[in-house]
Amino acid sequence: MIHVKNLSKIYNEAQNDEVKALDNVNLKIHDGEMVAIIGASGAGKSTLMHLLCGVDKPTNGEIWVNDENVVTYNDKKLSKYRSEKVGTVFQNFGLINEFTVYENVEVPLIFSNVPRGQRSKLVCSALERMGIEKLKRRKITQLSGGQKQRVAIARAIVNNPLFIMADEPTGALDRKTGEMIFQCLKKINSDGTTVIIITHNMEMAKGCNRNIEIEDGRIV
Ligand code: ADP
Ligand code: MG
Repeated sequence: MIHVKNLSKIYNEAQNDEVKALDNVNLKIHDGEMVAIIGASGAGKSTLMHLLCGVDKPTNGEIWVNDENVVTYNDKKLSKYRSEKVGTVFQNFGLINEFTVYENVEVPLIFSNVPRGQRSKLVCSALERMGIEKLKRRKITQLSGGQKQRVAIARAIVNNPLFIMADEPTGALDRKTGEMIFQCLKKINSDGTTVIIITHNMEMAKGCNRNIEIEDGRIV
C-alpha cells in the first residue's frame, strides 16, 4: 500500500517566485488498484508523481510504501527504490534513441545489478507481455509512437515493480493508439501490478477503478 500523509511541495521556497504545488495532500492507494489522477494543468499532478517515484523530495510530509517512509531514505536507498519498486512511463517515452528496444528495456536491470545471465529472460518476458518481442533488435528511431510507448511500459515492468506510474501516457498519441496503450496498462494491472495514471483523458479516467482529483495542490 502507498500511504501519503500531509504531503506538501513548495518550489522556490521563501523567494518571490514561490509556488505551493502540493498543499497537505493525504491519500491511500491499495495494492492492485488502477487509479487515475486527474486535474487541470498546473494542479500538481506531475509534482505528486515525482515525489511518489522518488525523483524529488517533498517540503513536508510522509510517503509510506509497504511500511517504510520513502522520504527518510538516503540517496542510496532512494535509487534502489526508484529502480526496484517503481516503474515510470512518460508522455514522451523517455527512451534512449541510440539503443535498441532490447537495450532500453535492459537498463533498469543493469541499474539494479541483475546478473547478465538473468537479464535476457526478464527482458524477453517484458517484451512478450507488451507484444513487441519481434521488435527487440530495432532502434527506437525505427518505431511508431505506439510501439515506443509499449517499449516504455516494458521497461517500467521489467523489474516487477510494486507499482507503475504513467504521466499522460497517451498525450502524444492518436486516439486509437492511446486506447491500445490504455489496454496494455489495464493488462498489467490485471496481472497484479498497481497502476497509477495521470491523465486529462476522461474516457481513460472512467476506465480506472478510482479517480483522485487534484485542484491547486489539494485533493478534492
Ligand atoms: P500538473 O502536472 O498538474 O500540470 P505540476 O505538478 O507540473 O502540475 O505543477 C504544479 C505547479 O508547480 C505549477 O504551478 C507549476 O508551474 C509549478 N512547478 C512545477 N515544477 C516546478 C519547478 N521545478 N519549479 C518551480 N515551479 C514548478
Ligand atoms: Mg504534468
